[in-house]
Amino acid sequence: MKYPVLDLGAVNAPLMPAISAAIDEVVQSGRYVGGPVVEAFEEELAAATGTPRAVGVSNGLDAMRLIFKAYIELGRLSPGDAVIVPANTYVASFLAITDAALRPVPVEPDPVTLNMDTTLLEAAYTPDVKAVLTVHLYGRACYDAALRDFVGRHNLLLVEDNAQAIGADGDVAGPLGTARTGALGNAAAFSFYPTKNVGAFGDAGAVTSADADLLDAVRALANYGSRERYNNIYKGYNCRLDPVQAAVLRVKLAALPAITAARRRNAAAYQAAIDNEAVTKPLMTAPDRCVWHQYVVRVSDRAMFRNYLAANGVGTDVHYPVPPHRQKCYAEYSALRLPVTERLADTVVSLPISEALTPAQIGKISRIINSYRP
Ligand SMILES: *Cc1c(COP(=O)(O)O)cnc(C)c1O
Repeated sequence: MKYPVLDLGAVNAPLMPAISAAIDEVVQSGRYVGGPVVEAFEEELAAATGTPRAVGVSNGLDAMRLIFKAYIELGRLSPGDAVIVPANTYVASFLAITDAALRPVPVEPDPVTLNMDTTLLEAAYTPDVKAVLTVHLYGRACYDAALRDFVGRHNLLLVEDNAQAIGADGDVAGPLGTARTGALGNAAAFSFYPTKNVGAFGDAGAVTSADADLLDAVRALANYGSRERYNNIYKGYNCRLDPVQAAVLRVKLAALPAITAARRRNAAAYQAAIDNEAVTKPLMTAPDRCVWHQYVVRVSDRAMFRNYLAANGVGTDVHYPVPPHRQKCYAEYSALRLPVTERLADTVVSLPISEALTPAQIGKISRIINSYRP
């Protein structure tokens, strides 16, 4: 494939001297779990996000699971409570809710933003709803006045699934006075899975919050339920971030402004160059607040479009072909009718967008797309 959908070797190549040196330092230090490198990364992530504190954890799903379990331990949520969640999301958003014995209430997406349609929130509300899990899909923040007012009016917890949108801004400022994702709700979960905009060299994640009690509970739950060695206050887990990953992430996080700028430049190049009535482009706002984790177009005959692009050397992916309510593991939701979500699952295609691509390469891919005839 001349233009693979994502070439992680090329993405990381410019940073490798700094990353190798940082990994080497951890190896030489003899400290392989916790310690000063993890703490330094936590401080830098909090500063980058505009939150007072962050806790590094093992991955993005665990970040969300720990948030929900911590709220249960703190008595802020109870098993059986309902959590509003976008129907159009990665299955991990649902898994975190059900793992904590909470009940997902899926809400359809806005067909323009592809994020949860916040005008549908009030109709989805019942007294069982105690929280909203907002998902900033494809790098676009899902946070506006309607969502902010909804959680305020009903006194709900707002949790962010910020796996895909580190560095993005919502439509309005959140309670901490910034519109930056990760600082918009009561707590936010980050994933640093290798393909994410800030990707580690393995699994990694984090939780940010302004709530010290929540973060203390998350940190204890991620460490066998213990704050002090051999003193277990919760039935916890082992979900810690290792310093080798934290060392990689410090370098990647420092590069985030450049990563985001390159992705925005590439998205703008696609937006200007793609001109084919069979291909629906994503929403572009001015200013551009999206960080373009994916650049997702829609086509009616996806298999034909993907085959055509593959034959012309362009790799693509699908995020996601099967929505959570149609997964075998969620058979109890299979009778739900979520037509906007289901139509998106059948028509979305992710194009190459990484910071390793140049605008000239985006131009070449766009010309190939413009010659597509269904
Ligand atoms: C990647 C992702 C997750 C899960 O993160 P992991 O680190 O892979 O566990 C959760 N939600 C969304 C929207 C994601 O894209």
